[in-house]
Amino acid sequence: MSAAAVSQAPTDAIETVVVKSAVVACDGDGGALGHPRVYLNMGEKHSIDCPYCGRHYVLDEAAAGHHGH
Ligand SMILES: [Zn+2]
Repeated sequence: MSAAAVSQAPTDAIETVVVKSAVVACDGDGGALGHPRVYLNMGEKHSIDCPYCGRHYVLDEAAAGHHGH
C-alpha cells in the first residue's frame, strides 16, 4: 500500500497573509499582480481583503492584544 498521502491544499488564486498589525500596506508584492501601494485598515475586524489583488489579510491573534498565552 503506497501511503503517499500528501496533504496539499488546492492552489488558490487568493493568498492569505497573516499580519501583526490591523493596518496593512499592500502593493501586490510587485509581481504580475502588483498595484500601487494602498493601506488597508481592518478597523474592529481581524481580517480584510485587498480590493486590488484580492489578498486576504488576517490579523495575527497573538498580536491582537492578547498577552500571556
Ligand atoms: Zn493588494
